[in-house]
Amino acid sequence: MIEQIAVRVVHGPAPARPLAPRSRTARMLAAVGAFLHDHGRAIRTAQWVVVLVYLALMILPLVAPLPDRHARILNHVTLFAQFMFWGIWWPFVLLSMVLFGRIWCGVLCPEGALSEFASRHGRGGAIPKWMRWGGWPFVAFAGTTIYGQLVSVYQYPGAVLVVLGGSTVAAMVVGYLYGRDKRVWCKYLCPVNGVFNLLSRLAPVHMKVDAAAWVASPRVPGVNCAPLVPLRHMVGASDCHVCGRCEGYRGAITLSPRSPTEEVVTHGHGHGTAWYSALIAFGMLGLAMGAFHWTASPWFVAAKIGAAQWLAEHDIAWLFRDDIPWFILTHYPDQNDVFNWLDGTLILGYILATAAVMGGAIWLAVAAGARFLGKGWMGARFHHLMQALIPIGGCGLFIGLSASTVTLLRAEGLRMGWVGGTRIAMLAGATLWSLWLAWRISGRHVQSVPARIAAVAGVAAALALVDYAWALMFWIW
Ligand code: SF4
Repeated sequence: MIEQIAVRVVHGPAPARPLAPRSRTARMLAAVGAFLHDHGRAIRTAQWVVVLVYLALMILPLVAPLPDRHARILNHVTLFAQFMFWGIWWPFVLLSMVLFGRIWCGVLCPEGALSEFASRHGRGGAIPKWMRWGGWPFVAFAGTTIYGQLVSVYQYPGAVLVVLGGSTVAAMVVGYLYGRDKRVWCKYLCPVNGVFNLLSRLAPVHMKVDAAAWVASPRVPGVNCAPLVPLRHMVGASDCHVCGRCEGYRGAITLSPRSPTEEVVTHGHGHGTAWYSALIAFGMLGLAMGAFHWTASPWFVAAKIGAAQWLAEHDIAWLFRDDIPWFILTHYPDQNDVFNWLDGTLILGYILATAAVMGGAIWLAVAAGARFLGKGWMGARFHHLMQALIPIGGCGLFIGLSASTVTLLRAEGLRMGWVGGTRIAMLAGATLWSLWLAWRISGRHVQSVPARIAAVAGVAAALALVDYAWALMFWIW
């Protein structure tokens, strides 16, 4: 219903009347919001520049030879693109979600821009029911993460083309088919939509809606909110792409500061779902951990040796075959980098097993804590408490992805001795932030201090497990 209404509205008019923000920060943010509102054309131009850069980083490495050991970031386009995509782009886009909300999505994301462009000139169909399924944020994230590992997306241009390019083509097809001037792909199917949604809940800025001002203002033409946010009832930053189009709308909406705990603590009770809890526990903290871990894990090596011996003893040869296309499993004989069926099976198994063990243990620990938040079991309380783990989940994705940055910079000869300490500081900070959120969340449900401590203890157990898993990867193995 909301989407059907939103499909009919047009780009927004000028603000109905100026808002009167109080603090200096509020005035500054309102000015940023007004700038975004007034410079839609410039933003669209910037989006096309980013689209060109994105396409160049994806396509130019395809026509270059793969880098040898003498290649450097500044003299080889493939290494340069690898550094830009995985060393800079992804880690810092994730960080931007926590700092500024989803402004990346609304202002710079090439995939969102292309999807909206296709939607502007497309069929404008109604959004199908299957697309609204709540499990897509988890399934799309999990599928892309696993597939990316199997084809070594961090290393090879062909794999980048299939993973990122495939996602972009899908975004354009969905845009062409559904909605008018909308970002249906971004709202429902984008593989990182769920993670961005969760991380932006921590942002200290959001588009604030003044309900009283809304009601008091006269009716004006609607605003084209591309990601289909129900403006009047917008709470928090998780769905909003901060494009600025609704800044000043009905004198009721403006970009505003807020406490980084506000959305999770105050509004998180009604905003958790089982799929988002699964994305935190099994996705960001489980599956992603498995994907970062397997290349460094002695357990993976032991499993591979054991499985290979067992297969040889039982005369099972087909699992050692490696004549597999590169878009199914990594296949670059010139680089001595070839996966056989056994490798593929073990990588998949390792990632899924890590997701099951980590996710299962985290789920149980948080569930144990949630039991103390009130009488009887209530899923909504559990999903609320689970959101306390968003900081450690985001921190893990950042330090996991930036491990590529560090490796590439080390290969350039840069001294990276400070990295270990920085990682410890980031993990410690995220752990404390998660504990603080757990404490604040518990206070929304119970007043008893022992009950609150017990609830926080459940989250602390989950955090201990996550920190131990990172310690294994960076300091123990
Ligand atoms: S609510 Fe919609 S229109 Fe308003 S800033 Fe967010 S994405 Fe843009």
